[in-house]
Amino acid sequence: MERIAIYPGSFDPFTLGHLSILRSALGLFDKIIIGIGYNHTKRGFLKVEKRLELILDIISEFEESNTKVEVCAYEGMTIDFCRNNNIKYIIRGLRTYTDFENELIVAQANTTLAPEIFTVFLPASSTHSFISSSIVRDVHINGGQTSELMPKGIDLKKYVDEK
Ligand code: ADP
Repeated sequence: MERIAIYPGSFDPFTLGHLSILRSALGLFDKIIIGIGYNHTKRGFLKVEKRLELILDIISEFEESNTKVEVCAYEGMTIDFCRNNNIKYIIRGLRTYTDFENELIVAQANTTLAPEIFTVFLPASSTHSFISSSIVRDVHINGGQTSELMPKGIDLKKYVDEK
């Protein structure tokens, strides 16, 4: 049976930290779906279509990989999306002890509601653990350079709707 995992998140925007978790997860699964979880009543920093576009630009590097990498956007609970799409694994990255405490609670709630779905935690790399989407947004909003925090070749300005 195909091992399908979702890597869910807001990805607002997708950063170098997200990419390093994705790279660590390659090879563990046959297919990884990067799932942009959104709520249509909440305005994010990047529009969902732009978050999708940015991730599509990045994952072209995995075209030759044995693990298929896809991206999609969804609303509602991750476990419902998993059940509707035959996904059995949820990937989450851990940066800090705080991440661990929060993630453990969500994973335990998910396991209670959907025991057939497993959460897989992957540790952040020491070089990327300080990176978060909110840091990237703050740097951008204050006119700083985000290139060191983003996947190679990604110019965040291209995806930002400045209105
Ligand atoms: P969410 O709002 O669901 O936490 P994020 O887009 O902020 O969405 O994060 C998605 C996932 O990526 C989470 O599991 C988060 O811990 C992980 N993550 C974010 N930044 C990093 C990083 N620098 N290193 C490792 N994992 C990260």
